[in-house]
Amino acid sequence: MVNVAHLDRNPESPVIFHKRRLDIQESTEMKRTIVELDTLQVIIKTAERCNLACQYCYYFFMGDKSFEGRKPIMPQDVYRKIPGFLENAVRSLQIKHVNVAFHGGEPTLQKLKDFDSFCELLHVTLSPLTRLSLTIQTNGLHLPKPWTECLARHNVKLGLSIDGPAEYHDKFRTDNKGRGSYQRIETNVRSLLEDEESAKKLRLASISVMNHSFDISKVNGLC
Ligand code: SF4
Repeated sequence: MVNVAHLDRNPESPVIFHKRRLDIQESTEMKRTIVELDTLQVIIKTAERCNLACQYCYYFFMGDKSFEGRKPIMPQDVYRKIPGFLENAVRSLQIKHVNVAFHGGEPTLQKLKDFDSFCELLHVTLSPLTRLSLTIQTNGLHLPKPWTECLARHNVKLGLSIDGPAEYHDKFRTDNKGRGSYQRIETNVRSLLEDEESAKKLRLASISVMNHSFDISKVNGLC
């Protein structure tokens, strides 16, 4: 057994493989051959732009402008290729669990119908072969009902980026006019939770960026 930080990373590809435990054959000749992979974590950056302008955002505001040279939204031909690519990996490495995480930028900036058909294709291609789970990490600013219904329909678990109550969240998580985003996000989350059936499927979880001046009990109280 070995641990590897990256099985593969092609800088041109939106697909990133992450740390997993690999089974390696014992014989000298085959020592470096991967024969089995328990879990594959795939992060797909479906949108390389954002509808927020958080002041601490390392991706857009810390000097790395490489995103400007990439398409804002993942192109259709890439959408179409990914399920088959993952199917090959599942078959050849006997992968038991694949988790696909949609990230950005802000992944809800892509067209809903494209996201819907992408999830459908992932399920149709991979679910007969492996345990497939889908997650999305969103800032919660754009979560209209058709989006939450689509996420629930495909059993996509929802991770919300929120930094605690408004007094903390609005310090850094601002839009491009410098306005806090808490109120708009809270409204979206409340309306999402009204539909109990969908909310159960989305299994809402949150990620908070903590500042040393924050009182953690207030952040925990919210989340
Ligand atoms: S929501 Fe995320 S990607 Fe968007 S500006 Fe904030 S930290 Fe950056």
